[in-house]
Amino acid sequence: MFLQINIKGIVQGVGFRPFIYNLAKKHNLLGYVLNNTSGVSIEVEGKRSSIDKFLKEIKCYAPPQAVIFEIRNNYIEPFGYKDFTIRDSEDHEGKFVPISPEIATCNDCLKELFEPSDRRYRYSFINCTNCGPRFTIVKDIPYDRKFTTMAPFIMCEKCQGEYDNPEDRRFHAQPNACPDCGPGLSLLNAEGAEIEVSDVVTEVCGLLKEGNIIAIKGLGGYHLACDALNKDAVSKLRARKYREYKPFAIMVKDIETAKQICYVNDEEEKILKGTIRPIVLLRKRPEYPMSEDVAPRQNYYGLMLPYTPLHHLILAESGLVLVMTSGNISSEPIVYYDDEALNRLKGIADYFVVHNREINIRTDDPVSRVWRGKEVILRRSRGYVPYPLLLSCKFKGRILACGAELKNTFCLTRDNYAFMSHHIGDIENPETLTSFERGIEHFKRIFNIEPTCVAYDLHPEYLSTKYARSLDGIHKIGVQHHHAHIVSCMGDNGIDGEVIGVSFDGTGFGTDGRIWGGEFLICDFSDFKRVAHLEYTPLPGGEKAIKEPWRIAASYLKRIYKDNMFDLDIDFIKGIDKNKWFMIEKIIDKGINSPMTSSAGRLFDAVSALIGIRQEIYYEGQAAIELEMAANCKEEGSYHFDLKDLGDKTEIALEPTIRDIVSDLLDKVDTRIISSRFHNTIADIILKVCLKINKTSGIDRVVLSGGVFQNMLLLNKTFDLLDKRGFKVYSHHRVPPNDGGISLGQAIIAFSFY
Ligand code: ZN
Ligand code: ZN
Ligand code: FE
Repeated sequence: MFLQINIKGIVQGVGFRPFIYNLAKKHNLLGYVLNNTSGVSIEVEGKRSSIDKFLKEIKCYAPPQAVIFEIRNNYIEPFGYKDFTIRDSEDHEGKFVPISPEIATCNDCLKELFEPSDRRYRYSFINCTNCGPRFTIVKDIPYDRKFTTMAPFIMCEKCQGEYDNPEDRRFHAQPNACPDCGPGLSLLNAEGAEIEVSDVVTEVCGLLKEGNIIAIKGLGGYHLACDALNKDAVSKLRARKYREYKPFAIMVKDIETAKQICYVNDEEEKILKGTIRPIVLLRKRPEYPMSEDVAPRQNYYGLMLPYTPLHHLILAESGLVLVMTSGNISSEPIVYYDDEALNRLKGIADYFVVHNREINIRTDDPVSRVWRGKEVILRRSRGYVPYPLLLSCKFKGRILACGAELKNTFCLTRDNYAFMSHHIGDIENPETLTSFERGIEHFKRIFNIEPTCVAYDLHPEYLSTKYARSLDGIHKIGVQHHHAHIVSCMGDNGIDGEVIGVSFDGTGFGTDGRIWGGEFLICDFSDFKRVAHLEYTPLPGGEKAIKEPWRIAASYLKRIYKDNMFDLDIDFIKGIDKNKWFMIEKIIDKGINSPMTSSAGRLFDAVSALIGIRQEIYYEGQAAIELEMAANCKEEGSYHFDLKDLGDKTEIALEPTIRDIVSDLLDKVDTRIISSRFHNTIADIILKVCLKINKTSGIDRVVLSGGVFQNMLLLNKTFDLLDKRGFKVYSHHRVPPNDGGISLGQAIIAFSFY
């Protein structure tokens, strides 16, 4: 009996070949296994019953990271193998090799880490074929030690022995190392001078307990860590980082501790304890004595469990709950080079924990949440990247999609694989732009993709768009922002054809030159028609209005109540600086720097300001987030709105909504109730407009996308309303609903043209 097997999947660097080797030995099969460019090829000879068992067990017992896309086999004439071997990789010019993302420290390695008799006892760089760094250390392909940042470390005899032994769990573990031959930690003071200590981990634990801020080098960059229960330490970190309100992520030693701090359901527990270990957004337990400064005005904490040996050592020994926030200053990208860390984090960190394993590419911590029993990825980064998304459509061309401006990711395609990049960040400064450009070059090299077509956002001022337009000799396709949002959600859900797309968002450049963001589209991959949108309203001062949502609220009131707005007996009016307002009024009247927008995000901001929650923001989405957080009560009521028929499209008029809110304010209705009623209203608007569109088009599939759908309250209400009326509703899971998902939508749209 002889069987040839071809497996497609992500199997490089996850211990798949030794697994096959041992499985073949177990069943007395002869032949070989080798890595090829799309996965693994196997040939086995032996008894039919053994081969059947072998095949079955590949599926049942494969290492968890070896995601198998497809197994194909065919029976051929026996060759007469004498043994079972692991062969060297096959090299195919022009093909590509999937590379594994980073994998959290496995249980076998953890046992050794805490076992005093083990030769890697307390060694911060312990790893094996089932865990450790991958993508962040890869400089070139194939995935081989000499092409990683582990190249300078020559393995000692013992490590080499493990590396060469197919029966060892460190067989071909490229980052394999031990205290004798591998990287090591050092502790530096605030000036960057090394401090001699007998044990860095023990020293760091002491320093954290004393309230110090420590920059700790991790897998994809530096974290800033401090004791989350120490109010002074946390506010010191906020002040030094110029980060007033944006929540900090926390790391705790184990799931039991997580459950003391937050409510954790089964699915959340599974994700927290899994091999990716994202930051998971979990509902706070109010009784836990965390410093309020960790996540001010939030009902959630972003919480993660340790994922490197160093995290495990520090958390186990100190027993602390740590703030673990990315090592950067406000909107700059996360720091990952050592000298860069010492420069840019100077004045923030009291101490630095560094090591000499270089990080080749920066990757932030990913962020996820669970919605209705399923993971929703809000930031797709370390651990998810560069794992490709498998799309149902086959890409003929090689496409580079450049994404948007905020929360940028880019995407490269080949065959039906879409390689979405790690989270690049907001491309508003030179550092992030460089990171974006380098990231593209790196992805092109490691996946062997030379794009023939580039897709970009229509916004002429986005740096990602300028980059795309500057490329020579390549086909160029501009994609409307909200069309990209909807198609990214379609790609996420594996659907195609015509849908009703509801794209509720902050900012997106419209084809009429205005700023869109409350859009109803009828669209498929290749085209869209804007069939309804929120009414336009001015953004007095442009960007300034986004930072100061009270300006938008005031301009709504001006339009509705004219000069009588100052007679309204509500706190919002009393709080307005009249002199400032009269200046702003002038620029609205003259149409100076007051772009018109139909943005849903801005409407949420305005209502947040109007009802006294937030007049100015310190991070993107803050006003809307705090408005959502305020709505924690059961309330069925909602406000009025008008659907205006403009012939080819519907405009949603919000004057009745604003009037109702003002009337509630005059009646001193509780903020929580107003916020709930407002959320109910938006869900109601979405339902009514979808019903209207369905009536004329017959389309019954609704796709929800855009940053506003990170609002769980709105998503829940909208989903249920649509679902009850028989719509088939799709929302995001594998790809972020925010602008982090744009690049995938752009790629699919470009493909449909190409
Ligand atoms: Zn391991
Ligand atoms: Zn060694
Ligand atoms: Fe957007």
